[in-house]
Amino acid sequence: MGRAVGIDLGTTYSAVAIVAPSGSPEIIANREGERITPSVVMFQDDSVAVGSMAKQAVTDAPEDVVQFVKRRMGDRSWSFTTTGGDQYDAEWISAVILRRLKDDAEMALGEPVTDAVITVPAYFDDARRRATIDAGHIAGFNVLGVINEPTAAAVAYGLESGIQGTVLVYDLGGGTFDVTVMRVTGNDFQVVATRGDRNLGGFNWDNALITYVAEQVMERTGVDLLEDDQAMAELREKAELAKRTLTTMPEARVLLRVNRKPVTIAVTRQLFDALTRPLLSRTRSNVESALEDARLGLTEVDHLLLVGGSTRMPVVREMLTTLTGREPSIGVHPDEAVALGASVQAMLLASRGRATDNPIPPTPADPPVTIHDVTALGVGVVAINPSTNKRENHVLLPHNSKIPGRGEQNFRTTTPGQIELLVEITEGDDDDLEYVTVVGQAGMTLRPRPELTPLRVVISVSADAVIYAEVFDQVSAHKIGDLAIERKSNLSRRQIDAATATLQSWDVS
Ligand code: ADP
Ligand code: MG
Repeated sequence: MGRAVGIDLGTTYSAVAIVAPSGSPEIIANREGERITPSVVMFQDDSVAVGSMAKQAVTDAPEDVVQFVKRRMGDRSWSFTTTGGDQYDAEWISAVILRRLKDDAEMALGEPVTDAVITVPAYFDDARRRATIDAGHIAGFNVLGVINEPTAAAVAYGLESGIQGTVLVYDLGGGTFDVTVMRVTGNDFQVVATRGDRNLGGFNWDNALITYVAEQVMERTGVDLLEDDQAMAELREKAELAKRTLTTMPEARVLLRVNRKPVTIAVTRQLFDALTRPLLSRTRSNVESALEDARLGLTEVDHLLLVGGSTRMPVVREMLTTLTGREPSIGVHPDEAVALGASVQAMLLASRGRATDNPIPPTPADPPVTIHDVTALGVGVVAINPSTNKRENHVLLPHNSKIPGRGEQNFRTTTPGQIELLVEITEGDDDDLEYVTVVGQAGMTLRPRPELTPLRVVISVSADAVIYAEVFDQVSAHKIGDLAIERKSNLSRRQIDAATATLQSWDVS
């Protein structure tokens, strides 16, 4: 049995951590000696490379390099086509990144690494969670579960600093945004409310700068950089660098060559903040909503925890301090906290599975760590409203319900002898089906039944917010079976097994 690690599989950077024999979580450096690995993959000829090498190649060979793939998880219509004509979906590309992290961890530890907890944005829906778990399997991991990134960060920080009370976690990374309100009591971490936007991150701040620079270049030279893949890849790299510079300096310059002539576009922090104000406002509304959900006032936050590379931007800190009256907690590394927290969860889950192996003896002074989350999205089923005779969403677990949790719905087989039971499972809190997502259809074949038997369908959401469905006989309360949820956004078991076998034979450098 190998070791269990925590993996922060980020949009832009990923990290791996493990709980050391001393009991404290530690980051495992990659083969380049870096503590975080760019989530970038390069396909070239017959080889595949991950990390800094791939990232450096993006300006020279943009068509061979794929990044920001986390934004595509659970999207069956997307795939990356290599110059050789091969197509890879988001699960596969994520699996390649995970495989590289696994290889690096094994090299550093000198032992096999078999088990992992992988982190996901709190606002990831079921399809995206499922896709993340599938990517872990394809990479060759036994996936112990997924954990929400802000929750993981709070666990790492809480254990390190011993903070207590209400913690507001603001996680703004490269591609996603989450805000989570937690209550920390001793070593118990309870999420109270969570909100977010899975398409908001540093990437969008870069885009604002790219648009501005491209407009300036157009005005000065008449050249449209947005038309040219290579120029765009270069501009994206330079805009991101300028953004980082603006975190510490009042002004940054983007130096480009247009038609072989140098062009310099200067941007002040003030201008950058103005260009990106609508993005910051979107995060603020989410903070306000999360606190409302938690029935807390802005000033009732005891600790402000900033996670994700984009929280280094001074405007983020200023906005949150003005809003809550708190200074951000320091001492937690914004790039590492998520992986560290995930490794604690990995240790907890792995030791639950095998009581004798790898035990971290809790000292009497340390109460056990317990972590409880909520669902970011409501979960329900499609049912006919008897008064209108219309199909409606019937929410069984509203958003911010504690998980693991369950809700149930009674069904009556409509025709005697009916043997197919089909239930549509939804995510979202609206009655109107237009505003919710159908996660999938859950079906099973019933044994032939003599009469119209009432059935009870129980939808449960696991501690890591993955949805399951079971059917019970309503009269006898006997479980009839599990409903296999057919998720149209996800890979089939067979596709996963085939991909796992293929990736095993690949050499990932
Ligand atoms: P993810 O978890 O989504 O991969 P990270 O937490 O690693 O994201 O954050 C990456 C983002 O943080 C990128 O958009 C990057 O540009 C941004 N970032 C990193 N350092 C800075 C900085 N000094 N100033 C502004 N943004 C930064
Ligand atoms: Mg992150």
